[in-house]
Amino acid sequence: MKRVYNFAAGPSTLPLPVLEQAAAEMCDYRGTGMSVMEMSHRSKVYQDIIDEAEACLRELMGIPENYKVLFLQGGASLQFDMVPMNLLGAEHDLAYYIVSGSFAKKAAAEAKRFGNVIIPASSQEYKFSFIPETTPEMFKTLADYVHITSNNTIYGTRYAKLPETGGIPIVSDMSSCILSEQIDVSDYGLIYAGAQKNIGPAGLTIVIVREDLIGRKEDIPPMLDYKVYAENGSMYNTPPTYGIYLAGLVFKNLKENGGVAAMEERNKKKAALLYDYLDQSRLFKGCARKDSRSLMNVTFVTGNEELDKKFCAEAAEQGIVNIKGHRSVGGMRASIYNAMSMEGVQALADFMEKFEKENQ
Ligand SMILES: *Cc1c(COP(=O)(O)O)cnc(C)c1O
Repeated sequence: MKRVYNFAAGPSTLPLPVLEQAAAEMCDYRGTGMSVMEMSHRSKVYQDIIDEAEACLRELMGIPENYKVLFLQGGASLQFDMVPMNLLGAEHDLAYYIVSGSFAKKAAAEAKRFGNVIIPASSQEYKFSFIPETTPEMFKTLADYVHITSNNTIYGTRYAKLPETGGIPIVSDMSSCILSEQIDVSDYGLIYAGAQKNIGPAGLTIVIVREDLIGRKEDIPPMLDYKVYAENGSMYNTPPTYGIYLAGLVFKNLKENGGVAAMEERNKKKAALLYDYLDQSRLFKGCARKDSRSLMNVTFVTGNEELDKKFCAEAAEQGIVNIKGHRSVGGMRASIYNAMSMEGVQALADFMEKFEKENQ
């Protein structure tokens, strides 16, 4: 077996011990004589799996009692609709969307189907190279929520601090940064994340929602209603059973490795290694403004498309793969999620240095 350093933005690399445990348990899960994929979601064995996954996530993130953890499908993109379906118009028929990237823009566009949307700040004119500034005055009119994208996967930017919304609940898309650094869940009304970046396989979406925000609107189709998921322990219908099992293994692995605080420290070191290199490089240039730099997705260019291509191709030969930027922006992007080792990041930095020397 030869594993590469996989810098893919998502689906992305997973911790090897987790994959090994899943492999060992694949055909006979703890003496049940069947794979987790093959078992009823109504069985006691499976109930333990989902309960443990939830308990572990609650512990890792310090999720308060008055928040529900929901396991859904449909990706983060379905939340672009579910959030406004469940929250927009519950009281104010207004939501604010900060547009800091193309996922944020998509989320805002979907919300407009369900009610009034104001975009108080956007960095689109600047190619989303930073998180747009907000002031408390922007949120003067009461609204149901303020939507942000905590980490912008495509552009490599991250909120260093939350907008001051004057008590209006913050809803955040944390698909590419959940569990990467410590946060206070009570600063948010709702957090959602597709699993395939920092949690597990694609097909699972996690929603963490404050109880009082659930069930405030009528006539939502059941599969799109947070209340239905909350009341049925995420098992109104068949949940993505295997994805939840794998997410549980990832949570356990994270806990065994010191939890989110230790992970944050490692992630900051990993990111600093690349940004420090970029800041002194004469060939490569970072794309994100310094005050908005992401810990998870490091975007950079040489300024020459041909050279960018050559870099990606030669990196792949060294087992450094999926380093190409998003198709909409080009250049390079190193996604260094929790499961990417310091060793992998060091290998990339060393390769960048070598490439720079050879291509001056
Ligand atoms: C990947 C990503 C999405 C889209 O996720 P899907 O699960 O493919 O719908 C949305 N928002 C952010 C921040 C992402 O990184």
